[in-house]
Amino acid sequence: MKKVLIVEDERPMAEAISFSLRKEGYEVDIALDGELGWEMCKNGGYDLILLDLMLPKMDGMEICRKLRQESSTPIIMLTAKDSDLDKVLGLEMGADDYITKPFNMRELTARVKAVLRRVQAEGAAEAKGRLVIGNIVVNEERHEVTVGSDVVDMPLMEYRLLEIFMKNPGKALPRSYLIGQAWGGDFYGDTKTLDVHIRRLREKIEEDPAKPEHIITVRGVGYRFEAGRLTDE
Ligand code: CA
Repeated sequence: MKKVLIVEDERPMAEAISFSLRKEGYEVDIALDGELGWEMCKNGGYDLILLDLMLPKMDGMEICRKLRQESSTPIIMLTAKDSDLDKVLGLEMGADDYITKPFNMRELTARVKAVLRRVQAEGAAEAKGRLVIGNIVVNEERHEVTVGSDVVDMPLMEYRLLEIFMKNPGKALPRSYLIGQAWGGDFYGDTKTLDVHIRRLREKIEEDPAKPEHIITVRGVGYRFEAGRLTDE
């Protein structure tokens, strides 16, 4: 079920939108001020955000701009004023669409559907920006790693190492190569540093980190990345 967040300070308006969207089968949450809206956006899990422009505590523009720095969740701006400036600003801030108040609910739900459809189509095209090996997916666009159906929290260096591995499957990669690629000129650790990162990475992506199937140690050289067993023995 698609999940929509409505950030709108006029309660009757928010509830009317919520009612219409629920009727169409969406799951809906409401935030009645900007600050709460931003918190809820950040914590994510929404397929689409309906964002009012004029909000107490934090306005819609700021939320939109901040959210765009970390996520591509589709946003439809709700603007009270039918001025071109608002529209242009709304789109420049990274909104996917806007709708001017007053609007009828049929128009709104049609826009919601259209944006979700468009994002889904773009998502399919963006699949090229994803590295997939076995049940591990690195989404380079979103800087996000999933193992199976779980999103895995990954600090930058672990992420970079995984990215290098996934781009070079089956090759024995020398330690010096991995360090050079992942840290560039900024490596000040000792040789143990790489092993520590590899260990953490294994804990996140291996079913049994003690018997790694993905990141294989190649003695005297470095590591090799394998797809792992795709079927159960
Ligand atoms: Ca408002």
